Amino acid sequence: HQQGTAQVAVTGLAVMGRNLARNLARNGFRVAVHNRTTSRAEALVEEFGHEGDFTLARTAEELVAALERPRRIIVMVKAGEATDAVLDELVPLLDEGDIVADAGNAHWRDTVRRHAALADKGIRFAGVGVSGGEVGALEGPSIMPGCDADTYGELGPFLEIISAHVDDEPCCTLIGPDGSGHFVKMVHNGIEYSDMQLIAETYDLLRGPLGLPVDAVADTFRAWNDTELESYLVQITAEVLAHTDADTGRPFVDVVRDAAEQKGTGRWTVQTALDLGVPVTGIAEATMARAVSGDTERRAAVREALEPVDDGDEGGSDAAAVDLSVDDLRAALYAAKVVSYAQGLDMVREGSRENDWDIDPADLSRIWRDGCIIRARLLGDITQAVEEHPDAPSLLATPTFAAAVADRLPALRRVVTAAVASGTPAPVFSAVLAYVDALRAERLPAALVQGLRDYFGAHTYERVDREGTFHTEWSKDR
Ligand code: NAP
Repeated sequence: HQQGTAQVAVTGLAVMGRNLARNLARNGFRVAVHNRTTSRAEALVEEFGHEGDFTLARTAEELVAALERPRRIIVMVKAGEATDAVLDELVPLLDEGDIVADAGNAHWRDTVRRHAALADKGIRFAGVGVSGGEVGALEGPSIMPGCDADTYGELGPFLEIISAHVDDEPCCTLIGPDGSGHFVKMVHNGIEYSDMQLIAETYDLLRGPLGLPVDAVADTFRAWNDTELESYLVQITAEVLAHTDADTGRPFVDVVRDAAEQKGTGRWTVQTALDLGVPVTGIAEATMARAVSGDTERRAAVREALEPVDDGDEGGSDAAAVDLSVDDLRAALYAAKVVSYAQGLDMVREGSRENDWDIDPADLSRIWRDGCIIRARLLGDITQAVEEHPDAPSLLATPTFAAAVADRLPALRRVVTAAVASGTPAPVFSAVLAYVDALRAERLPAALVQGLRDYFGAHTYERVDREGTFHTEWSKDR
């Protein structure tokens, strides 16, 4: 097969792929670019050709011929069938030892499947999670690669150079084998869901029960971004809330339809968490909250049906009855965020154990410190806590975060109480508080659940006072 001089290729040149290719070229790599619809590749070279050394490939054959060996091809297309279509076209053209890296948002199980299928053909496959959106792809994303160590040896240096950096450390490291990178990216997105929903619930409580005008809410988030809450999402929350709609002069947030969409990574996280038996209640409630928001017909019907009933003093917002301060919300937001990160890390640990991936959780918080959507000051502290207490069964059991959450628990409780009292839905605040209360409880009513299961299904139970499995002959009492 022909051999060219490009060091790396990108196929799939929509917003993400285009910016990733430019990032590679800006960093001095010789980049071959290809897209199913050739005009996108031509436009890239025409507009940004001056930024570096691009080779335009009009066909898959030209792409393969443009590359030095072993070939490194980054695929950045729509996840799912599109990725399989690209692989079906490319793989027959490749030589043994060539590397294909899927940088799209693939489901990790698809990555496990593709890794195995390509390994049979001698092609090395990497599943690479990329976070940071359009700007991150161009200026330095957080990168979560899953592949064999030898593959990482060939691919890693490219990814590390184009990734974001904190203190000269790249926000990119080998996560583990096959699907591990996409698994971690999926959990990252799940945490992103809960972070965003917590911010949204906080905004709602500031505006509703606390009665702040929207520009004051924007100022509050802006001020919080200089505190322990400092994060990309808090920063852009201030910007979105401060934005005025040009057409109407109204706050932008008031002209946006209140139905949140999802592309599926939140759902995948929850589905996988259920399979693994890990309670990611924050992520789950955030995902459900999007579903509720989008359920517009049912919302309208129930709103109409219930309205006459709670016309009086029940259910409406009653600021006077609510004992809540702006500082409570700040403290509760931080505590809730910690809990939802703790749940996400638990899920990664369990996924790693189940799939024999040997993921180091400290790696995740380290590479999430910059470049990605959930980047936050908090992640520095998480890295430290996880490094110092690698065997802690929960982030919440490490001294730093146990203290951080304990200090803020009264505020979190006041926030949930105020939400309930004022009829403001706060599903993620409520869920993470219930989770913490459940973990702290001396005894859980699960004992009664076990009793019921034994009663109707002879499912047996264990006892607190002796070893063994027991069943009660309930029929005598029935
Ligand atoms: P996208 O809209 O998800 O996908 C468009 C690209 O896929 C185009 O290059 C398109 O080619 C190609 N494509 C679609 N079907 C194809 C097929 N059957 N065969 C070959 N190519 C096909 O693009 P994107 O937003 O840039 O995202 C790319 C990937 O990155 C996705 O997997 C996405 O989930 C992931 N991602 C996105 C973000 C983000 O912020 N947008 C962040 C992280 C990860 P044509 O031009 O020929 O149609």
